[in-house]
Amino acid sequence: MARVYLEDISRRFNAVAAIDNISFEVPDGQFWVLVGPSGCGKSTILRTIAGLETATSGQIFIGDRLVSSIPARQRDVAMVFQNYALYPHMTVAENLAFGLRMRKTDSTTVKSRVDAVARSLDIVHLLDRRPRQLSGGQQQRVALGRAIARQPQVFLLDEPLSNLDAQLRDDTRAELKQLHQRLGITTIYVTHDQVEAMTLADQIVVLNQGQIQQIGDPQTIYGNPANQMVATFLGSPPMNILSALYDGTALQIESQRLPCPDRLQHLLEPGHRYNIGIRPEHIQIAADSSNSHLTVTVHVVEPLGRETLIRAALSPDNRGSVPMVNMQVLPNVKPQPGDRLPIQLDLTMLFVFDPATGSRLM
Ligand code: ATP
Repeated sequence: MARVYLEDISRRFNAVAAIDNISFEVPDGQFWVLVGPSGCGKSTILRTIAGLETATSGQIFIGDRLVSSIPARQRDVAMVFQNYALYPHMTVAENLAFGLRMRKTDSTTVKSRVDAVARSLDIVHLLDRRPRQLSGGQQQRVALGRAIARQPQVFLLDEPLSNLDAQLRDDTRAELKQLHQRLGITTIYVTHDQVEAMTLADQIVVLNQGQIQQIGDPQTIYGNPANQMVATFLGSPPMNILSALYDGTALQIESQRLPCPDRLQHLLEPGHRYNIGIRPEHIQIAADSSNSHLTVTVHVVEPLGRETLIRAALSPDNRGSVPMVNMQVLPNVKPQPGDRLPIQLDLTMLFVFDPATGSRLM
């Protein structure tokens, strides 16, 4: 086990900066998750740590060892990819043993490690099969097992669950978490999946265009986002962003007026436009129009059992670009498309962003 420290790492591909001067330190034994839109540089960071990619500038430390110019096989990291990359002509047992044999580990140790890993991942009954005789979930366990058997200092996992179906994905995610709790190996994990990021991470690193937007624990990233990009990236449905003109007392949103909370009054300048953020769970249908803040027209109702998602327009007409709000309400509420609904916003949960830069003002 070891810490992983990236200091001012950049990786350019000709004119493209896939990663742009990134620094962070994953403490020994922690589980960090890298998230961000497609192309933001997640895989390049992982591949650079693994030594499969060379940084254009900057330094990487694993433990106290500077590894930037050390070849991949000497870095003592194990990487697991989305496409398991098992050796098709080898049995599961041979696949699990491969990394150890490459390191000339003695055969007694190899056997005991392979047995232990197979037991812990519940794949003992598969040891004599070849990869093509396994389901996707089983193949992914073998790929994880191959990495674990090596007992590396660091795990690097690149969307390891994304080829699995929903149920298997949930199960394997929980197993991964247990495994990490048991082994305590420093892990850096790349995913598109918000649930994986929120449930697995000690710390989440949100990236955009090769740069770090925010590093924080899942609760901080969700509840206290640094900017509009982070605010709208995590959360499903995402945070609503409403363009509002502050008139000195209220926020004008489309042709409606939302009372401006006192805590925002000193910050906002009359006559200026702001992006107001509110999460879907902080909007409720008002009991009657006297205590409502805004009125919306229902477009889509999605009952999910535990809750109902409503997508509604802020303006009654049917123009193509009518601003929409997503709301997450109790399942007993069953409006119909076309209904006009009074809604109430939790005004303590409003965020304010600069429309030009996306930076958070409140
Ligand atoms: P995804 O979520 O889609 O896998 P990502 O966040 O992992 O994306 P990377 O694969 O790290 O993104 O790519 C970051 C940027 O670097 C992208 O613009 C990509 O096109 C570019 N890039 C990556 N590898 C190369 C390469 N070998 N040559 C040229 N450009 C590359």
